[in-house]
Amino acid sequence: MIGSRIQPLTKAADKLLPAFAARPYFFDAGLRFECRRCGRCCSGAPGTIYVTSRETVEIAAYLRITPARLRDAYLYPFRDSHSIRETDDGCCLFYGNGCRIYAVRPQQCRSYPFWLGNLRSKRRWHTAMRACPGIGRGRLYTRAQILSIVRTTF
Ligand code: SF4
Ligand code: SF4
Repeated sequence: MIGSRIQPLTKAADKLLPAFAARPYFFDAGLRFECRRCGRCCSGAPGTIYVTSRETVEIAAYLRITPARLRDAYLYPFRDSHSIRETDDGCCLFYGNGCRIYAVRPQQCRSYPFWLGNLRSKRRWHTAMRACPGIGRGRLYTRAQILSIVRTTF
């Protein structure tokens, strides 16, 4: 899993975001990305797959199980909510020939690869590109769209 910590939006982050939005970035002309469904970001090195409480309820409903059953079978407590458990070799428990909860996958998964860590510099973006074959291809995301996605990961 290509792991990242998703933090709840804090008042401090809320104050900082207007400043983030005003400055120039290497992606001012946009970035291309289209998922190839290769599953590399769902497997590999262990990582954290943060799930909010609301997402826990949505995933449980999608799987037609109770949130308690979902927590017992698939999640472990992490910070203020949960993370999805992985197999010993770092594969998300919901991965199996594609994401089995794709329609209700957590925002952490939806927002990849537009994570702050990947967008800190062109070099970081190119490093992410080596791990994800969807980066640099397909749909063009505008600067505004990218910043909007980044905002969901605070
Ligand atoms: S193309 Fe990228 S985002 Fe899509 S599954 Fe592969 S590594 Fe993950
Ligand atoms: S929830 Fe789905 S998209 Fe997210 S890491 Fe697990 S298998 Fe991949």
